[in-house]
Amino acid sequence: MTERLQHFIGGAHVAPVDGEYFASTNPATLDVLYEAARGTAADVDRAVTAARTAFESPAWAGLTATRRGHLLRRLADLVGEHADELALLESLDNGKLLREMRGQMRTLPEYFYYYAGLADKVQGAQIPASNLAILNYTQREPLGVVGAITPWNSPLTLTTSKIAPALAAGNTVVIKPSEYTSRTVLRLAELAAEAGFPDGVINVVTGLGVEAGAPLVSHPALAKISFTGSTATGSRIASEAAARFIGCTLELGGKSPNIVFDDADVSNAAMGVIAGIYAAGGQTCIAGSRVFAHKAVYDELLERVTERARSITIGDPLADETELGPLAFADQLDKVDSYVQLGASEGARVHAGGGRPDGLELPGYFYSPTVLTDVHNDMRVVREEIFGPVAAIMPFEHEDELVALANDTEYGLAAGVWTQNLARAHRLARRLDAGTIWVNTYRAMSPMSPRQGFKSSGVGIEHGIESMQEYTRLKSVWINTDEGPVADPFVMRS
Ligand code: NAD
Repeated sequence: MTERLQHFIGGAHVAPVDGEYFASTNPATLDVLYEAARGTAADVDRAVTAARTAFESPAWAGLTATRRGHLLRRLADLVGEHADELALLESLDNGKLLREMRGQMRTLPEYFYYYAGLADKVQGAQIPASNLAILNYTQREPLGVVGAITPWNSPLTLTTSKIAPALAAGNTVVIKPSEYTSRTVLRLAELAAEAGFPDGVINVVTGLGVEAGAPLVSHPALAKISFTGSTATGSRIASEAAARFIGCTLELGGKSPNIVFDDADVSNAAMGVIAGIYAAGGQTCIAGSRVFAHKAVYDELLERVTERARSITIGDPLADETELGPLAFADQLDKVDSYVQLGASEGARVHAGGGRPDGLELPGYFYSPTVLTDVHNDMRVVREEIFGPVAAIMPFEHEDELVALANDTEYGLAAGVWTQNLARAHRLARRLDAGTIWVNTYRAMSPMSPRQGFKSSGVGIEHGIESMQEYTRLKSVWINTDEGPVADPFVMRS
């Protein structure tokens, strides 16, 4: 009998109103792992109502910011104690390497600790007044119920980036995880209850995007939506949020350039290219999918990347020696393969990979690490996000030409630069139109470092102190300390 997962609403496991469930499959073995509640507007309404009740309850609203920090610290401890369990559940669900998920789960507590520390450091200020009798100060307040909608590629990390600052600031949350990875987010809600978060502060409604995500975004009691996912869905969510004048933070897609100059350490740069596009099977928003190599090092880089791509160990994501697991689900595999076919039909050369790797026993959604050459900026494979292990490698000659090519994209999430020239590193950091710039490294991330997607890659900031502001509103308070009579009601003091 397949295990059934329920919603987590108001501190309890709750069956879906419609009684419907959907299956989640292991992408490596194609075994059904569990069924999760198929949420609808009625379940979302229960969850938002529970979250709104909790927001106003003395059990949550009556806590000092310091005590909220203590709760986050306890949750961080529990996440750390359950890191191996969470990593295994996540790897089974989305097919990413167990060792990558272990690494992510071991760092996850740091996000909660960081925002636990910030909980009682969010403060207003006294504003200088033009009249000494006036005391004017600002205070930061939580918004209310925050909706968090997240994708499948790093389910817990991306959920934590939203809920840790939201909770630290005093909000309550309703999370709608990806339909491909419901399990660990539900487990996190259970751990939060164990940590002592009051009922209704953290709620999870599982289900499909249109059936459960859309009603969450349009729920009248929602104060803010924080979304990570594709640019197409983000655009729909932004329209809905704008129509209702609620805030939204959007972390969206990317088509990031990874740039290798002729003065780079080419061996390290090749490793950076591999890390940028083949780690996690390229299923990361920050994938370095457009590789630009200076003409002087193009051949050497191509050879190194191709050689390593061909020798990547593909297979069971739970095995220690595996370097590349399956893609997360069937549509994802079809999408990646059809982009490679499209590239070939547009004139690209499939220099390595393309298609299912030979000799695999596992039946899952595996795709070979792929290198495309003879590509240029007008091709769809270079312009659109593929979200798979497909690198497009292109030569360049001059820095100005490179900057124009690298910035010629609708996205602006991240960029990598490989150079040993310090002046060039800083110059490129300024000239590249992306929210995160890495020099001689790739994929580095920390809860302390704010990140923002430029252009179609996002709106708002995640991580860092700045992210706390996204989950508060600012109130300006004016107090007249003069108790004397008001002389002229048509000219009040300010
Ligand atoms: P997606 O947009 O298909 O789905 C993301 C989430 O939105 C899921 O929970 C889904 O159920 C929900 N959803 C779908 N339609 C919805 C609707 N109409 N209303 C409300 N919710 C809806 O994205 P995905 O395929 O799950 O994730 C991959 C995408 O996420 C890629 O584009 C990737 O670049 C992006 N991503 C961005 C970041 C970042 O930080 N910028 C991080 C990871 C992934």
